[in-house]
Amino acid sequence: MNPLDALPSVMTGEADPGDLLETLAARLGAGHVVTDPDDMAPHLVEDRGLFKGQALAVVRPATVEEVAFVVSECRARQVPIVPQGGNTGLVGGGVPQGGIVLTLGRLNRIRAVDAMNSTMTVEAGCILKTIQDKADEVDRLFPLSLASEGSCQIGGNLSTNAGGTNVLRYGNARDLVLGIEAVLPDGRVLDALSSLRKDNTGYDLKNLFIGAEGTLGIITAAVLKLFPKPRRRVTAFIGCASPHAALELFSRLRGTAGETLSAFEYMPRFALEMVLKHAPGAQRPLQGDHPSYALLELSSPDPELDLQARLVSVLARALEEGVIEDAAIGASEAQNGALWLLRESISECQKQEGGSIKHDVSVPVSRVADFIQRAQQACEREMPDIRVCAFGHFGDGNIHFNLNQPLGMDKAAFLGHWSRFNRIVHDIVAEMGGSISAEHGVGLVKLAELPRYKDPVALDLMRMIKRSIDPLNLMNPGKVVPPAPKLPDA
Ligand code: FAD
Ligand code: ZN
Repeated sequence: MNPLDALPSVMTGEADPGDLLETLAARLGAGHVVTDPDDMAPHLVEDRGLFKGQALAVVRPATVEEVAFVVSECRARQVPIVPQGGNTGLVGGGVPQGGIVLTLGRLNRIRAVDAMNSTMTVEAGCILKTIQDKADEVDRLFPLSLASEGSCQIGGNLSTNAGGTNVLRYGNARDLVLGIEAVLPDGRVLDALSSLRKDNTGYDLKNLFIGAEGTLGIITAAVLKLFPKPRRRVTAFIGCASPHAALELFSRLRGTAGETLSAFEYMPRFALEMVLKHAPGAQRPLQGDHPSYALLELSSPDPELDLQARLVSVLARALEEGVIEDAAIGASEAQNGALWLLRESISECQKQEGGSIKHDVSVPVSRVADFIQRAQQACEREMPDIRVCAFGHFGDGNIHFNLNQPLGMDKAAFLGHWSRFNRIVHDIVAEMGGSISAEHGVGLVKLAELPRYKDPVALDLMRMIKRSIDPLNLMNPGKVVPPAPKLPDA
């Protein structure tokens, strides 16, 4: 689907809301079945305003039992449900096309913390930042970290299998979960809230729901893994001549810093200059000007480990051998924060440079520099004044390959080229053995593209799973799972 297209309703002829809203209001309280257009408005759009949806109401249950009640009542009337957390998702997965929006924000209890087991049991509507802070209070780390952490919710993080800046060391959201609780499309509650590190009693059901973007059920709670809190941390900002030089530095650090290398992010000159122009408080980190930059972090729970000495020795050698051109190491937490601000402000600053066509892609780490170079050349051939802003989680092979509109070009006219640039970039990704969605999911934005790039047998299995768990197609219909191809007429 081209993100600029109007969204059709997915309500089928079978749907008959009847007295649904009155029934829900009687159980949840009238204030929690929202139909006022102004109050509903923020729930009908996504972060970038690419889609505008429609819904009968925004429904706000506060307990698992209430979620199950809402789902059962919707099922009885064949009314679709779109779950929503913080609505910070970037692929239109939370935008409704009819039916109701079910928000999880009121399910926000931390049910249990077991520091000895290094686990925390949380409800889906807990804000990510609240979870990080709670872990910190018990001297542990919950490592999932995204620029949207102040408003996204753990249910949304798990449903999109979110990534972020610590994947290199701790893995994706999927790797940070031991168990989940979910309300199935038939209204039953799946209690898979295991806090076990080992459990081989059959299929790994939790992973069906993680990354499913709400298409198989509603995650209501999860058992999260906690980690030792880092006591030493060193952050550095590197200037180098090319993405290939950044890759060489990454490889050297991976070899010597091992597990202590917790982040390795990349940004081109264009991104740094844009942030320096628009982000309040952003300061130039290095004196000179370089084509490519890396932001990296080493961390360890061992307070005795001299991470700085380790880093300095790798950087000194890299400078000597011409692998990098310059480096700055943060001398305090405030300076580290200032370096991270440069990276975390990129998405926000891009909005101020007009329209941008975005790609969240991954390739094997060994090919990430080749990918950046090749895709940039291909896009510039297509539109010479296009401004390529290829940044992101370099150490995971995950690049946000974003294209800023040429200066002076009409925004809508530029965004009209969305599909054309998707095709160019995604074809290169596919040729390099990559994925067209690394961390943001499929939602609506990537739905039409999926059949071109994903194994047809894998797609068929996805359809079979969807049909068997949600036979009435009521859970976030029209997202993630592309319809089966039409068979040619006999
Ligand atoms: P929502 O946007 O509300 O929902 C996302 C999807 O999950 C939708 O399909 C929705 O239907 C479904 N869903 C939500 N809650 C539930 C539930 N409880 N049960 C079932 N389905 C549910 N993402 C990354 O991976 N890495 C990043 O670094 C990153 N950085 C970001 C930076 C910014 C500034 C912004 C705006 C977004 C960023 N994102 C990033 C995308 C987004 O924040 C993440 O995808 C986040 O995990 C979504 O959480 P949410 O609560 O906002 O979910
Ligand atoms: Zn990202």
